[in-house]
Amino acid sequence: MRWSEFEVKPIPRNAKWHELPRGGIIDQPATALAYKTAGWRTFKPVWHEEKCRQCLLCWINCPDGTIVVDPEEGKMTGIDYDYCKGCGICAKVCPAGAIEMVKEK
Ligand code: SF4
Ligand code: SF4
Repeated sequence: MRWSEFEVKPIPRNAKWHELPRGGIIDQPATALAYKTAGWRTFKPVWHEEKCRQCLLCWINCPDGTIVVDPEEGKMTGIDYDYCKGCGICAKVCPAGAIEMVKEK
């Protein structure tokens, strides 16, 4: 499952102070999902499936949980570019050289 499949009620950008939750509390979980957080990425990881050994080291080390894994198969299926920030950790830990960091256009 991708993070973007979760349903979160976003606060409108032009909300008035009295429309915000009292005390500015966060009144629902996972609010970051309402905002695509990959906007500042300068490099992006490109997955080469043919080299992948399905060890899932990238998945366990990704600080943003954006390595997509099929829970039934327990296998990596891709990268969620809506939330990947391009830190490059996945490429660093991959023992097979299956993830390449390329400059964003
Ligand atoms: S570049 Fe960073 S955020 Fe993006 S998938 Fe790899 S480890 Fe996760
Ligand atoms: S770390 Fe590399 S070999 Fe392991 S699952 Fe991720 S891409 Fe595949």
